[in-house]
Amino acid sequence: MAHLAVQGGTPVMDKYPEKMFHWPIVNDEMRKAMLDVLEDGNMSGLNITKQFETEFAAWQQRKYALAHNTGTNALNAAMFAVGLGPGDEMICTSVTYWASCTGALTLGATVVFCDIDPKTLQMDPDSVEAHITPRTKAIMVVHYMAHPVDMDRIMAIAKKHHLIVIEDVSHAQGGHYKGKLLGTFGEVAAMSIMTGKSFAVGEGGMLVTDDYEIYRRAIRFGHYARIGDVYSPEEYKETFTVPWGGVKNRMHQCSSAVGRIQLRKYDAEKAEIDKAMKYFWKKLEGVNGISIIYPKDEGSDKAGWYATRFLYEPEAFHGISNATFAKALNAEVAGHGFSVGGNYPLHKSSVLPKGIDVKALTGELPVAAQINTKILGEPWFKHYEPEIIDKYVEAVLKVIEYHEELLAVNDTQKVSGGIGLSPSR
Ligand SMILES: *Cc1c(COP(=O)(O)O)cnc(C)c1O
Repeated sequence: MAHLAVQGGTPVMDKYPEKMFHWPIVNDEMRKAMLDVLEDGNMSGLNITKQFETEFAAWQQRKYALAHNTGTNALNAAMFAVGLGPGDEMICTSVTYWASCTGALTLGATVVFCDIDPKTLQMDPDSVEAHITPRTKAIMVVHYMAHPVDMDRIMAIAKKHHLIVIEDVSHAQGGHYKGKLLGTFGEVAAMSIMTGKSFAVGEGGMLVTDDYEIYRRAIRFGHYARIGDVYSPEEYKETFTVPWGGVKNRMHQCSSAVGRIQLRKYDAEKAEIDKAMKYFWKKLEGVNGISIIYPKDEGSDKAGWYATRFLYEPEAFHGISNATFAKALNAEVAGHGFSVGGNYPLHKSSVLPKGIDVKALTGELPVAAQINTKILGEPWFKHYEPEIIDKYVEAVLKVIEYHEELLAVNDTQKVSGGIGLSPSR
């Protein structure tokens, strides 16, 4: 008789505890704020959005916050605002969601990918430095899967080579590196605040900066209705209020209304997630073959634990793939909670247009190319409920104990997992 549920054994848990994972948490204040916008017919207005921006800037400890309709567009505006254009190169980690870098392409610049650190999954500063050329203008820092990038090294490299630093904080809103808030290191930061992220408002993005010129250019790029707020009639008279980007980035006010309430409760929710996730990992401390990915520096954290991953060593389990292992884990816990790999490495994908010589610019990135066989996603607990979390711990320990039962079902076809983008066409 097999023990593992995936092989017909009895699962650890038979009912999915939806409440543990449901996100975002909606309260009456939010319902009311949203209805007010609808009933006022004020969805395309700016008054609530401007309040949200003021409050967000204070929370984010930056002078200016500019709300956007998506994180993708906030990032695109940031890349434009720092002056990225034809002939420029921007260095970005290969293992991220495509929107971290595609804006550079639409501006006529080129993206050069760097490798990642196999222990933290973050951009590897040595690889960043190795990819600098006379054309490099900016580094796109992605605090990936809630973990901060090694900002001491990145800022030193940027200073040495006179490069602009842009931060993509979509995975780590309110996170810290050595006590300093993520999104306050570079010239500008931008982030998604869509529903799936830790700081969730619905479709939306935010750009933050202390630099008035960057703020102004981001407005000029995609906020036609606000150009007159920051440019004199003299300055924009030739094109009147046509935005430079030819795009419209205004946030829906239902999103800004929700965002204002999120700002009041996010820090508390973030703290509860942190407590729950740390409880889970405390119970798995020292277990052979799997290990938490967590920043070692004092004052660094994993805010919100968005899309969080852990290291999985197939060699510790007779070469059983992470995909097979995840399947076995999920079978123990009513089907959901664990996932395979991370984002598909962009340097191996179809994201770069034909004509860009990825081999010449980026070369081989051995860690990025392989990482998706070595990581698994753990359950994203939103509440500290030890009795429920214990079941997930039990599932992990059980699958490890009886992993040999998986040798019969090991699915090597699925070894190179990856989310977010299909491989090269
Ligand atoms: C989600 C995400 C984005 C894009 O944000 P949208 O709001 O979905 O447009 C950009 N970068 C990263 C790293 C993301 O995860």
